[in-house]
Amino acid sequence: MAVSSKYPSLGEYDVLVVGGGPAGIGAALGAARQGANVLLIENHGFFGGVAAYGLGMPINQMRPEGKPRSDVHELVIQKLLNYGDLAVKIGDHQLWCNVEYLKAAVLDALDEVDCRYLLHTQAVDSIVEDNRVTGVIVSTKEGLKRVSAQIVIDCSGDGDVAYFAGAETMKETGALSPMTLLLNVTNVDIEKAQQVNINTIIERARNKYPLIPTRWRLSSFPSSNSFYINHGGTREIGQFDGTDPEQLTKAESISRRQVLQMVHAMREFGGDALRNIEIIATSPQIGVRETRRVKGLYVLTEEDALSGRRFEDGIAWRSGFLDIGFVRFSKMKIHDVPYRAIIPEKLDGLLTAGRCISATHVAASAGKSMGNCMATGHAAGLAATLSITKGCLPRELPVNELQTALQADGVDLTRSGDEQQQLMMREWKGN
Ligand SMILES: Cc1cc2nc3c(=O)[nH]c(=O)nc-3n(C[C@H](O)[C@H](O)[C@H](O)COP(=O)(O)OP(=O)(O)OC[C@H]3O[C@@H](n4cnc5c(N)ncnc54)[C@H](O)[C@@H]3O)c2cc1C
Repeated sequence: MAVSSKYPSLGEYDVLVVGGGPAGIGAALGAARQGANVLLIENHGFFGGVAAYGLGMPINQMRPEGKPRSDVHELVIQKLLNYGDLAVKIGDHQLWCNVEYLKAAVLDALDEVDCRYLLHTQAVDSIVEDNRVTGVIVSTKEGLKRVSAQIVIDCSGDGDVAYFAGAETMKETGALSPMTLLLNVTNVDIEKAQQVNINTIIERARNKYPLIPTRWRLSSFPSSNSFYINHGGTREIGQFDGTDPEQLTKAESISRRQVLQMVHAMREFGGDALRNIEIIATSPQIGVRETRRVKGLYVLTEEDALSGRRFEDGIAWRSGFLDIGFVRFSKMKIHDVPYRAIIPEKLDGLLTAGRCISATHVAASAGKSMGNCMATGHAAGLAATLSITKGCLPRELPVNELQTALQADGVDLTRSGDEQQQLMMREWKGN
């Protein structure tokens, strides 16, 4: 008897998507819109991943240059727009959301396409039979359970399913991007705040508040009196690996004190504009920018991003900036993601999407904007359903059929190589 069969079954699906961030939402919507029987599972009590728990940071690259990038991206945008002006503002390429509306809008989109989902459900192991992933073991309030699927899509950000299944993963130990606990603040004098130089506050406050990072930004929400703050997080404090339980706990605990020091530094050294500033929320968990990447049949490189490389098996493109959060920031060109970068090199039954696709440390930073992650999710969702319909493994799927299906879903696969519009490049927006 296989060890996994001792756990009660939680169902059998065509497609199981693990992780409900931008990539998982793209994958689940992409597959369910084709009529597949899809289950999306998520560890937190809401969908959205960093888009939701990031407390209001812009969801970048959702409509680069104002052009819709796929029916899946547009479905999410439409569901947000249904809630009116308080829910979303659409910028050059980004969405500025009130995350509480985003959480509801994602549920609306999933319900519309009849996608099954479970919250508070974490994949804790993978089921592998004859080198093929056939499901996962999940932790629920009823204990461990088994979910079976013809194809599993790993959208966990950390490549959990691939790692549990024994796939080769890559991790930049010693040079991982910093983690950041996002925060919301209020009671700011908005007019005066525009004159405040945060660097001066940091210089004056550093001795008294040693945990404060060397860079942060106060960004106002449209239609609101509160601000969200993205910052350098653990950059100056140390190297932490978000897949190591001890290190994740340490990063989280230091950051909880760090954000309070930031607020106190602003109250004491920020003059009239910030004298009364108050913290009103922190993310439910620290934001993890980078951990494992799953080695695929192709590994995307920095050169691919800088040169705007096209691939014959391109199934998505990535726009925006090459941005190792608060460490390195540079221009890049729109470039393709080849289908091979979402297929694990040696394991079947599994596709990847989002932050954990096959890329080098630097190339990963070129694709991490949420609209790009949703695009690879969308492609993985369609690849899974097409493979099931044809009765083949994802690696055997003729890529032209996947490209045709993506085009039918509104994806323009000819964008790579484009110099990006000045509008998108005009100011530093490091993540
Ligand atoms: C601090 C910070 C600032 C950023 N700023 C921006 C920005 O301004 N704009 C922008 O576009 N991008 C930004 N990014 C990048 C962007 O948020 C990420 O690259 C993107 O969210 C990755 O999408 P994803 O779906 O792959 O992963 P995630 O958004 O991390 O979603 C993964 C989901 O899977 C769930 N999960 C994980 N493991 C399991 C499991 N084992 N079982 C079940 N569920 C699981 C998680 O709870 C999560 O909901 C930022 C990232 C960080 C951390």
